[in-house]
Formats: sequence, structure tokens, C-alpha cells
Amino acid sequence: MQYNAWFAAQDNPNERYPLTEVVYYSTSGGLLEVQHDLDALRQRSADEWKQLFESRWMRTSWPYGSGVWGKKEWVCPVISDDNVVSMFEGGTNLFWAERLGIELGVENFWIKLCGNSHTGSFKDLGMTVLISVVRQMIAEGKPIRAVACASTGDTSAALACYGAAAGIPTIVFLPKGKVSTAQLVQPIAHGALVLALDTDFDGCMRVVRSVTADQGIYLANSLNSLRIEGQKTVGIEIVQQFDWHVPEWIVIPGGNLGNTSALGRGLLMMYELGLIDRLPRIVCAQAENANPLYRSYQQGFAHYEPMTARATAASAIQIGDPVSINRAIRTLQRFDGIVEQASEQELADAAARADRTGAYACPHTGVALAATIKLIKRGVIQKSDRVVVISTAHGLKFSRFKEAYHENTLPEVTSTYPNPPVEVAANVDAVRSVIDQYMERIARSISPR
Ligand SMILES: *Cc1c(COP(=O)(O)O)cnc(C)c1O
Repeated sequence: MQYNAWFAAQDNPNERYPLTEVVYYSTSGGLLEVQHDLDALRQRSADEWKQLFESRWMRTSWPYGSGVWGKKEWVCPVISDDNVVSMFEGGTNLFWAERLGIELGVENFWIKLCGNSHTGSFKDLGMTVLISVVRQMIAEGKPIRAVACASTGDTSAALACYGAAAGIPTIVFLPKGKVSTAQLVQPIAHGALVLALDTDFDGCMRVVRSVTADQGIYLANSLNSLRIEGQKTVGIEIVQQFDWHVPEWIVIPGGNLGNTSALGRGLLMMYELGLIDRLPRIVCAQAENANPLYRSYQQGFAHYEPMTARATAASAIQIGDPVSINRAIRTLQRFDGIVEQASEQELADAAARADRTGAYACPHTGVALAATIKLIKRGVIQKSDRVVVISTAHGLKFSRFKEAYHENTLPEVTSTYPNPPVEVAANVDAVRSVIDQYMERIARSISPR
């Protein structure tokens, strides 16, 4: 069976481009979407697709063991296997947050650990597709000299790493002083040209859009729909990991909002091809300090106004003018969606609570957890509902955030669960007394159930 996909304009289905063409916008200036030949995909039944995906899941036959490429026909069928640049992204743990769920009063609480990935965030899911397409373009003789992106940290880490693996030069634009050391170090280590600009993410985005008007420098931001195609596998994976059952809720943190629409796209494709017969509700969670989508939601999406994002510990979503705003609104409308926000206090405490029950949450995951907690308290999410929170990055990328939380020095936060190290004399009696106090504190804090 021959499967095919192409870029299409949203307002004109006849305006099409090959996926290997350097093009980001339609003639009317809208974003392009990847469209698949659904009639060809329908030649296989839903059960046959499930069996195929199961047979490839986490296996070694190149490149199908990757969570993304195991669904190659649905993601990017036009790439030859030789050009795939993969680090076996996807297939991440769906963590049963049993103790946190009990604390919060929901029976079925899960965290999809997308940060357990090669570069430590979900950005790998999209970058494997984009860099593979670039490799194919270069193989076909397209004069691409480098790939560039603006980033709040994780996109540049993924771009630089996949570029390094493929031997393709990369250029990253970062807002000076607004990304964590761990995030800055990754593109440096991978040999990217790292440009620290004295502006915010939105300012970097404007510069990179101009620079990539040059056809020789390919744009890797998520307005490039190739990334969305890889990222959409997260929704498919979650359903697969529940043996093809659909959870009631999926909660996802949103900044530039590409990932929110990607989640929706994967689920809708399953729905259209008959693998599932209902859709979950999607909650997009924003930091209160960078909440343009939340503000629009409050007005029933009747108005949208970009804002200047204020500083937030959730630095990867400190975005005031999201590129994928329209896509995300369409997704939320289709999925009976909700937008909730979290203050610095709420996101930091939520992450700390999750950590104390065995997760290790980055601040963005903290935003999603805090939003979930609010919806449970309001009775919107109910006790028996199955809830999945998407964790977007590994907590280890944000050690400074956690350190500051436990030192009680985070801006706008008074830490509710600080656990600073105890300095004690190197003397057995002193140590015993500290241990006793600690055990007493724990005994008091565990309430009988
Ligand atoms: C990129 C990123 C997000 C936001 O994703 P968008 O597609 O920009 O909404 C959230 N969390 C982390 C850790 C990220 O790197």
C-alpha cells in the first residue's frame, strides 16, 4: 500500500506542497498543516493498525521501535528509512501516580513522562521527524545549509542534538538569561551556534522568522507542522498504553501551543480511523504570568490578545504571543476543552507534592498538576475519572528551580513543602536526635485513613 502526506493550506485544500519543500505558510499567510491520504490509511482496519503498532512497540527493527516511527504511516510516510534520524524517542513511561491520586481524591491518576527521553523533553518527538525530513531534502539536493530555531530551551536542545547526530549544522536563538543552565548547556555541547539575544522568546521568534526567509536556513519552530506530526503520537501512545481505552481527561501545559494541537491531532486521527469511539476532554494549563490563552478562554475565545509574558519558573511556557493560538483554540473547541491557570505558588507547590509521592516534576508539569488539582477541587474532574497529566520535561533539567524551592527563595512563592538539608555535627547522638525528630514529624503528618 502506498501512503502519502503533504502540506496543505487550511483555507484551500487544493493548495498543496510536498513535505520536502521549504515552505511554512500558505499563499494567504496561514500556517500549513500536514494532511494524510486517509483513504489509503482506511484500507487497513482499526484492528490491523492496532496489531501493527503493537508488533513494533519498543522493538529493535529500524526505525519502528521508536514510539514515533512505529507509527510511520500516520506520521511521515514519505521518508525513506535510511534518512530517519531517531534516538528511539517515545515509548515513555505512563507513571501510575497512585499516592498522589489518593491524596487528591481521584482513583485513576497517571503522569505521562515525556521528559524520559534522549534530550529530556517531549521536543524529541517532533524533532526526529523534522530532522529526518531535512536529511531527505539534503539527499535530494536541496541547498539547506543549516536548521534554526528560537527556543525557551528544550527545542534548541533537541534541535542541536538531532542535528549533531545527523551531521547537520544548527543555529539556536535563546532569550538571554531566561533559560536554565542545563538547557543552555545542551546546544553548546552539541556544537550548535548559540545566539543569546537580549529579548524575550517572542523577540527571538521574530528574528528567526526573518533569518529563515533565506531558503538555505530551514526553520525548526513548531509553526513548522512537521514537528506537530511527531508530537501527535503522544495521544496515540497514551491510549495504546491503556490497551486502547480512552481516559476521561488529558491535561497538558501550553506555551506556544503547538503541543496542545498535536495532542488533539493524534487523538482525532485515531477517532477518524476507528481505533477509538470517543474523545477525552483536554485541559490546557498555563502559567498565570503567561496566560494569553486562558484570558481568551475566559471570554469564550471571542477575543484573543497577545501579552508580554512575565517571568515564571515554568520558563518553557513563558510566551505571550503563541504561534499556534488558532490551532489550539480549534483543538479545545473540538475536545470540549478547558483552560486553567496556575500561579507561581500553585505550580511550585504542586511540583513539590508530586515529588514527595515519587514523581520528579519540572515546573511545567507543576502547572499541569496545579490545574488538575483545581479542577478536582471544583468537582469538574470526578473521583472515578481516569486522568492523565502530560509531563513535558524531566525534572533534572530544572534542578535550580527545585533547589530554590527547598531553600524557600523562589520569587512569588512561600514554599509549603520545603525540605532543606539538615546540618548536623558528626556525632552519633546529635544525628540520632535529628532522626527522631524527623520520624516524629512524619508520624504526625501521615493522617490515618
Ligand atoms: C515546549 C515546552 C512546553 C510547551 O509546549 P508548546 O507546544 O510550546 O505549548 C511545555 N513544557 C516544556 C518542558 C517544553 O519544553
